[in-house]
Amino acid sequence: MRIVVHGGAGHTGEVQDGVETAADVGWKLLDEGADAISAAVATVVVLEDDSRFNAGTGACRRTDGSVQTDAAVACNDGRLGTVAALEDIANPVQVARLVMDEDFDALAGKGALDYARSRGITPAMVAGSEKPWAGDTVGAVAQDASGAIAVASSTGGVSGRPVGRVGDTPHWGGGLWTDAGIGIAATGIGEAISRRLLCFRVAQQVADGLSLAEALEWGLALYPADVCIGLIALSDSEGAGASNASMPWALRQD
Ligand code: ASP
Repeated sequence: MRIVVHGGAGHTGEVQDGVETAADVGWKLLDEGADAISAAVATVVVLEDDSRFNAGTGACRRTDGSVQTDAAVACNDGRLGTVAALEDIANPVQVARLVMDEDFDALAGKGALDYARSRGITPAMVAGSEKPWAGDTVGAVAQDASGAIAVASSTGGVSGRPVGRVGDTPHWGGGLWTDAGIGIAATGIGEAISRRLLCFRVAQQVADGLSLAEALEWGLALYPADVCIGLIALSDSEGAGASNASMPWALRQD
């Protein structure tokens, strides 16, 4: 069993304690027998509820002052659930988790909000925060005792982007990827991540024989130093995190 958690590439605040707390929550759940999806989602909920992070309650505002969030959950059993440009939901990762069990993969905007409401999630005003930096999204990758791997991510996007902008977080293969023996989540400038299909391509490097750490470095090397990027990943034998900027992250494994 293992879980790796991040609090966003480029986070300038002292938030390592928040990531450690979230990792402890996910690890305890795994230790008690929870499946990888439940552990990854619960870990991200802890970070969404910590307003120092750019997700859920602390999501950054768009140029028009609105708060819109993206989130994703995927399992290497083949299921995927994503939401994009979702307003008035404190824990968007929980909506993505519900979408995962539907016969569609992605909901956006009003449709996502209506769906959340129909599934018993009560909308609440999310004040968001005036973060002076871009980034600080959150994510977790967990592997449970059965060997299943799940990835969960949540973000308020990147500060200064327009209403309706969707980043990499719900972008399959870009912001997240999981397959047999691998799970990866990205953070940083979403447009740069999506355009390079980052998580899928990093997973291909592992399939081609690189270690997890080498594959993450391969991914970071695709970018110039001023494009903030971070990655966390698990394989069947190890966990790793890496960033070309400061990125709080934590790993628990047995
Ligand atoms: N990747 C996220 C986005 O572009 C932001 C982040 O990771 O901090 O929406």
